[in-house]
Amino acid sequence: MDEPAAAELHSRMSSDVAINIAKVRERIGRACIKSRRREHDVTLLAVSKTRGAQDIRAAAAAGVTDIGENYCQEALEKIAVLDDLALTWHFIGPLQSNKTRAIAEHFAWVHSVDRLKIAQRLSEQRPAHLPPLNICLQINIDDEASKSGIAPVELPNLIAAVIDLPNLRVRGLMAIPDADNNGDSFFRLRELFETQRLRWPQVDTLSMGMSADFEAAIAAGATIVRIGTDLFGVRQ
Ligand SMILES: *Cc1c(COP(=O)(O)O)cnc(C)c1O
Repeated sequence: MDEPAAAELHSRMSSDVAINIAKVRERIGRACIKSRRREHDVTLLAVSKTRGAQDIRAAAAAGVTDIGENYCQEALEKIAVLDDLALTWHFIGPLQSNKTRAIAEHFAWVHSVDRLKIAQRLSEQRPAHLPPLNICLQINIDDEASKSGIAPVELPNLIAAVIDLPNLRVRGLMAIPDADNNGDSFFRLRELFETQRLRWPQVDTLSMGMSADFEAAIAAGATIVRIGTDLFGVRQ
């Protein structure tokens, strides 16, 4: 591609991202009105796995502040290139022990904690000059073999074990329900969340809802919706 063509393509893609963000925000707004919630209480987390740094720049220019990534190495490259932007980076992918240090050093949030050992490593490896790392515990809400996360019955013990780790702040729960859930999974997650919140007041985050189902997640009380496809297009 010659240079003018590349520049044109790039500006067209940026405006697509801006338009998509406006549409998604409108849908979030409508879902909030329907369930009598404040739009301010639902954070749009733009999920940018497989996308280039330019797409994230376009999202940031359109007002997105929170970015979700699934793969450590891919994310670190984008975080380095985009360090002129004031973005909050969320790690939402599977966690391996050999990646916890990089994640503890470069992210503000981790949504996918599902083992005490991983939580301990993240706490130990969180640099002292940074605020505590915000974490959500991932729940396998529909008991699917293909999904990470703990069973709901394991939640009280895991929360009790991680709540006092010094460099973590336990913020809430995350789940990826069965693709053809009818909203019921979201309400079950909400119930778990409310139960834990009675005991641990710092728990204030319910990370649930993706492109296909974020309106149902908002109706059930999501405070963070994680949206990729509807913002950036279908992934290859
Ligand atoms: C990819 C991904 C998303 C975004 O999914 P879309 O369907 O593209 O909106 C959200 N959460 C997690 C954990 C993901 O891996």
